[in-house]
Amino acid sequence: MLKGKTALVTGSTSGIGLGIARTFAAQGAQVMLNGFGDFEAPLAELRQTGAKVVYHGADMSRPEQIADMVRACEAEFGSCDILVNNAGIQHVALVENFPVERWDAIIAINLSSAFHTMRAALPGMKARRWGRIINVASAHGLVASAQKSAYVAAKHGIVGLTKAAALECATSGVTVNAICPGWVLTPLVQKQVDARAATDGVTDDEAKRRLLQEKQPSLQFTTPEQLADLCVFLCTDAAKNVMGQAWAMDGGWTAQ
Ligand code: NAD
Repeated sequence: MLKGKTALVTGSTSGIGLGIARTFAAQGAQVMLNGFGDFEAPLAELRQTGAKVVYHGADMSRPEQIADMVRACEAEFGSCDILVNNAGIQHVALVENFPVERWDAIIAINLSSAFHTMRAALPGMKARRWGRIINVASAHGLVASAQKSAYVAAKHGIVGLTKAAALECATSGVTVNAICPGWVLTPLVQKQVDARAATDGVTDDEAKRRLLQEKQPSLQFTTPEQLADLCVFLCTDAAKNVMGQAWAMDGGWTAQ
């Protein structure tokens, strides 16, 4: 489905981003990976598909590194056709206890980074008259939970950014959309499962069940593979008139 396309996926050394990068490579796209931690293993794995896959270690809280990453993608592949803004972090605390440094980091990584990648990638996409930008928001881009003020603010912000950019791009061949996962069992969520198991004094399985029961009527985690298939769909011609949407895949979380 994605043969001949190039994709930059931020935060793709782990979790949802890695799932999206895997599927994109399997669908024939050339992929630039990004993120912290081990990148050699994902790089080697994705290269087995035969796709050209490279890595850039830009820190998504650093605008100048982000600009360098987009330039490197265009230089390496000749274009950046698909941009997935996925990198993200979480911190859980009451507003009055929220460390200022965590607030700033969440806004920078979960929201401002998407502005910086988009401003760098859009001129090339518009000039080639084809582009797909997918912002990984969250159910928390649509509704809130207590103790997640920075995350909820950033995710609501990215839904707004998505709409504004989609309108600017409406006649350009470039679409901009957000996807809104509910609970996905990645390292980011496992930390919250661990915290729940500790506070409630229950097993890992029971903590997962309680988290799901609170928010996600399907009682099933959304998977990175399901989200990746949604991203592939948004890259097809069938989706070329889908613009500025915040597309939930959340087991019914935001239908309540
Ligand atoms: P994860 O922790 O598994 O992966 C996060 C990725 O972002 C990693 O590759 C990490 O290295 C990278 N990253 C973090 N800080 C970075 C920085 N400063 N610069 C570059 N890379 C950085 O988490 P995940 O659950 O896969 O989350 C991915 C995205 O999905 C996030 O935006 C998150 O908010 C969103 N999301 C997750 C869930 C969920 O339930 N897991 C639900 C809704 C939305």
